[in-house]
Amino acid sequence: MSRHTLIIGGGGMGSATACFLSEMAGPGERITVVERDPTYQSASSSLSASSIRQQFSTSASVKLSQFGWEFMRSCVDEGGVPGGAVGLNERGYLFLGQEHQAEALRTRADANRALGAPIEEFTQAELSARYPWMNTGDIAYAAQATAGEGWFDGYMLQQLYRSRARARGVQYLKGDVVRLHVQGQRVVAAELADGSRIKADRVLNAGGPWSAAVARTVGVDIPVRARRRTMLVVSCPQAFEHFPILIDTSGIFVRPEQHHFLVTVTPPADQDLDDLPLDPDFGTFEEVVWPTLAERIPAFEALRVERAWAGYYEFNTVDHNGLVGQVGPENFFLATGFSGHGLMHSSGVGRGVAELLTFGEYRSIDLSPLSPRRLETGELIVEDAVY
Ligand SMILES: Cc1cc2nc3c(=O)[nH]c(=O)nc-3n(C[C@H](O)[C@H](O)[C@H](O)COP(=O)(O)OP(=O)(O)OC[C@H]3O[C@@H](n4cnc5c(N)ncnc54)[C@H](O)[C@@H]3O)c2cc1C
Repeated sequence: MSRHTLIIGGGGMGSATACFLSEMAGPGERITVVERDPTYQSASSSLSASSIRQQFSTSASVKLSQFGWEFMRSCVDEGGVPGGAVGLNERGYLFLGQEHQAEALRTRADANRALGAPIEEFTQAELSARYPWMNTGDIAYAAQATAGEGWFDGYMLQQLYRSRARARGVQYLKGDVVRLHVQGQRVVAAELADGSRIKADRVLNAGGPWSAAVARTVGVDIPVRARRRTMLVVSCPQAFEHFPILIDTSGIFVRPEQHHFLVTVTPPADQDLDDLPLDPDFGTFEEVVWPTLAERIPAFEALRVERAWAGYYEFNTVDHNGLVGQVGPENFFLATGFSGHGLMHSSGVGRGVAELLTFGEYRSIDLSPLSPRRLETGELIVEDAVY
């Protein structure tokens, strides 16, 4: 059957979908990825902290992480090392909770364990014994996964999807989609900024933080906004053994990166505005990060900012979860809105969307809870574990 699938955006989501779809495509099927910036310098997939965890508050997220972990492990390097081709490192996330946070974290750990996530809980004494450099006086609950979590190289992952897709005949085209043309109930073409048009039989919007603008051109309003997050690269003279990926009681994220640490924190709601320029917010360090982390880890009193960058979360302001599936015109699909956990979920989403486009149903992971129709029905699946 001759059929043309157009994917808008060649970041992690778009390229993962192209990768899996090209594996399933029959003869005569064409797949094009249209990407306005092939350097990916502002793409979230290049600016990510590229970490993966199984600890989430919704089961769809846990299952997508499990798929993502296994997929990345299958990407072996020349030496046959599992995950080596995407720089995968295994290291558990350690979640810390004070008294008022303990119950919710415990409930979440139980639910995650029921889905197979290996989560270990610590008493305060056990936590201090394991991490003697940490101030644990206010900790009422602590949990860490013993496997299946860690970090990877996000750019390598995105490029791996892209090169596999291209090797199977997917065409990557440089172009900025300014509008989609609809006839009846179907999208028929994408118009580029240079005035040219690309005909398509179906269209996937994988435009990440910019996906709402694409959706608007077919009259669909999606609650996905570009929300800036600053990644600080900090150094500390003291070396630590087995430093976990730490989510502090304050919500600060800190993880080792070679001889440094990566740190980020969600800005206060009144400062978390849409489309801020991608300049890192250095003020966060002095005002929030340094005092809070020095309290938690006294050796961090000597922290120094080495550099910083900023990228956008493709933030779903309604329930902080991905929007995956058909919406509006009958041949228009979304894979966006993952609110800070999209890269770890890109292989599962790419696989799922490819199945939906090929077979009309999900076969590996049921992604129907992530259907954008929930915005109309109100069956939201709120993901609380967003950092
Ligand atoms: C600081 C930071 C830390 C993060 N940490 C993590 C983490 O630890 N783990 C994790 O899993 N996730 C993390 N994320 C989130 C993750 O990076 C994103 O969820 C994921 O990369 C989204 O991929 P995407 O393909 O949807 O978007 P992108 O990578 O942004 O790709 C979208 C692409 O679409 C293109 N595009 C948009 N509109 C058009 C158009 N009209 N025409 C043509 N092209 C268009 C853009 O140029 C872009 O290249 C983090 C994000 C940031 C910013």
